Amino acid sequence: MSPREVRGTIFNVQPFSVYDGPGIRTTVFFKGCNLRCVWCHNPESYTYEPQIQFQPEKCIGCGACFAVCPRKAHVLDEEGVHRIDRRNCTGCGACAGECFAGALALTGRNVTAGELFSMLEQDRDYFARSGGGVTFSGGECMTQPEFLKALLTQCREAGIHTAVDTAGCVPSERFEEILPLADLFLYDVKAARSETHRCLTGVGNEQILDNLRMLSDRGARIIVRIPYVPGEEGAQGAQSAGNALAGNVHEMLEIAEILKPLRLEAVEFLAYHRLGEGKRASLDMELKKFGVPAPDAVEEVCAKFRKMGIPARYSR
Ligand code: SF4
Ligand code: SF4
Repeated sequence: MSPREVRGTIFNVQPFSVYDGPGIRTTVFFKGCNLRCVWCHNPESYTYEPQIQFQPEKCIGCGACFAVCPRKAHVLDEEGVHRIDRRNCTGCGACAGECFAGALALTGRNVTAGELFSMLEQDRDYFARSGGGVTFSGGECMTQPEFLKALLTQCREAGIHTAVDTAGCVPSERFEEILPLADLFLYDVKAARSETHRCLTGVGNEQILDNLRMLSDRGARIIVRIPYVPGEEGAQGAQSAGNALAGNVHEMLEIAEILKPLRLEAVEFLAYHRLGEGKRASLDMELKKFGVPAPDAVEEVCAKFRKMGIPARYSR
């Protein structure tokens, strides 16, 4: 099979992105992730299958979705409120196609690497002018390795700069295969201690840190990204911390100790924002509310890292 024929699932292609690597970039969001970060602002990336999103505030009650759904997944609950019975929904998208009010949208589509690359190529002018390129993000793009390789191969042949945005929780062989094809890694480090990491994301971090050290040893260009998430609103005690950085200075310094010996281009702190909260509601997912950090608090952490010789900065 040629690289152009390899298929994968994505949920968004975002042009003119300035936060996902150098220059102006186009970011491709792969659908499907093997982590469940409690603060995730792209919850539509969790599953690998297409999903229907419903924003009731836009619904005008026309009833078209009830009529078209082959699974009778649009229902009225006991209070007469329009809901989606997600056990019956197959994500076919028929209802979204009929919803002219924009209350329904299908997130996720299966594409070939060739189709997607043809779209990405159209942005070459601004890549060239700005020193940008394409960033593969998600979800976790490393969990669709053949699709990712096919895209990286085409970009490399076309001379387009690439960045792989990853949480690193995959077998090391996948990084070994990707390493010669990717120009830059945007690598998440969410906690120093494995038990903290498991509590925040559902998985321990041993493999993640091993892969990061391996990439550094092999001379990969790496920007580490650390989410800065203040505690969960209304929660008490140690568990209220969104992540270790905002709630636990010791763990923050442990992250710095892990990063100190590595060859890194930069360490970026990503401040939590609330854009994902509406998306969670549209997918009937549980909502956890976190605070938005004060810029000064993030700058303070950056300064601590810099004092230790780590090139940290605040990415707003
Ligand atoms: S098709 Fe859209 S606007 Fe009409 S009832 Fe369904 S969700 Fe509401
Ligand atoms: S996506 Fe398909 S199965 Fe799901 S609610 Fe819409 S029409 Fe029904």
